[in-house]
Amino acid sequence: MFDMIVKNANLPDGRQGQDILILDGRIADILPTSDQHQAKQIIDASNCLVSPPFVDPHFHMDATLSLGLPRLNRSGTLLEGIALWGELKPTLTKEAMVERALRYCDLAVSQGLLFIRSHVDVSDPRLLTVEAMLEVRELVKPYIELQLVAFPQDGYYRAPGAVELLDRSLDMGLDIVGGIPHFERTMADGAASLEALCRIAAERGLPVDIHCDETDDPMSRHVETLAAQTIRFGLQGRVAGSHLTSMHSMDNYYVSKLIPLMAEAEMHVIPNPLINITLQGRSDTYPKRRGMTRVPELMAAGINVSFGHDCAMDPWYSMGSGDMLEVGHMAIHVAQMTSIDARKQVFDALTVNSAKTLGLEGYGLARGCKADMVVLQARDQLEALRLKANRLFVIKAGKVIAETPRRLSSLHLEGRPAQVDSADYAPTGAI
Ligand SMILES: [Zn+2]
Repeated sequence: MFDMIVKNANLPDGRQGQDILILDGRIADILPTSDQHQAKQIIDASNCLVSPPFVDPHFHMDATLSLGLPRLNRSGTLLEGIALWGELKPTLTKEAMVERALRYCDLAVSQGLLFIRSHVDVSDPRLLTVEAMLEVRELVKPYIELQLVAFPQDGYYRAPGAVELLDRSLDMGLDIVGGIPHFERTMADGAASLEALCRIAAERGLPVDIHCDETDDPMSRHVETLAAQTIRFGLQGRVAGSHLTSMHSMDNYYVSKLIPLMAEAEMHVIPNPLINITLQGRSDTYPKRRGMTRVPELMAAGINVSFGHDCAMDPWYSMGSGDMLEVGHMAIHVAQMTSIDARKQVFDALTVNSAKTLGLEGYGLARGCKADMVVLQARDQLEALRLKANRLFVIKAGKVIAETPRRLSSLHLEGRPAQVDSADYAPTGAI
């Protein structure tokens, strides 16, 4: 007798009609569907894709849901967003930040998003952001695994006291070393910050995740330094380059030399499609650059690429809904990843790739993995992305922690069907 069976499921690897057998919070087995399988609870997943949970590798939990405080971003630019956050910071309270973060986590769970890496701004000497996010990490532990990056938003060398504040925030319990080299005063300071940050990570045995080259400037080449310092300090596989938007505008010959270096450093790359398409190319007239980094080329070189949400209703981005399928939907458009294989790669970049970026243990749909999964109102990954599919059930450690009724519309049209289920519109031809 199992605790739960997720019955007759389609899996991301293409298998259909599978029963996922769950016992003691783990996947005991996955077998072709059968009436012989018995459990205390049965979840019908007929004609539904069951996926491991969504993983967001890049977010700002300390700023989320603060849109409009103390005012709106009029220009919509990254720099006004940073300035606006600077105005907001002195007025932040720990209680309000915790409350907003918990509300965002509720939304995330409803969307099947159960793993989040969040950057925490450590540039205010009170470090209230750090205290608040550490509290949130504990509070949400039963349902969301939250990784916290010590992020010197105002610059590691540019802002007075940042060097000491970053150290203090790591001592307080943040998990990952962050940085922002393109925001330092000079290219040289940016490069020096990367050496210092990689050294700290090596000494403390921590991963690194850098806001790197989030600019249209093709000469912003800190990613090269980041890769070189990764190799120098033996941090291969532990370093992530977030954004890397300058790569969009770089000279192709230079990139042909850069990508193999990044591959050698086993760098994880984290583009943020929703934010990159809105914040980059802002000073262009026409043609207007898209700004997102070179995703298909990086993937083709064997580099692990995972997509982040980055922001939701904060000084930088007024939209966002905690829906990683919305992130993937945008990625398909921005990177023109419309082939079948490319769309499957995009789905992986929201799930298995980002799990690799975060170094998650026991993640996935296989015997012995943690029984964490999402039942989607869509038959496969392509349909899930097309529809930004409804999450029928969100399961954590073998328990349903969120559910949403099947999305159906009633039609009141003479001679036409009474109901529409958008998942019924999946193409019937061979794909
Ligand atoms: Zn960010």
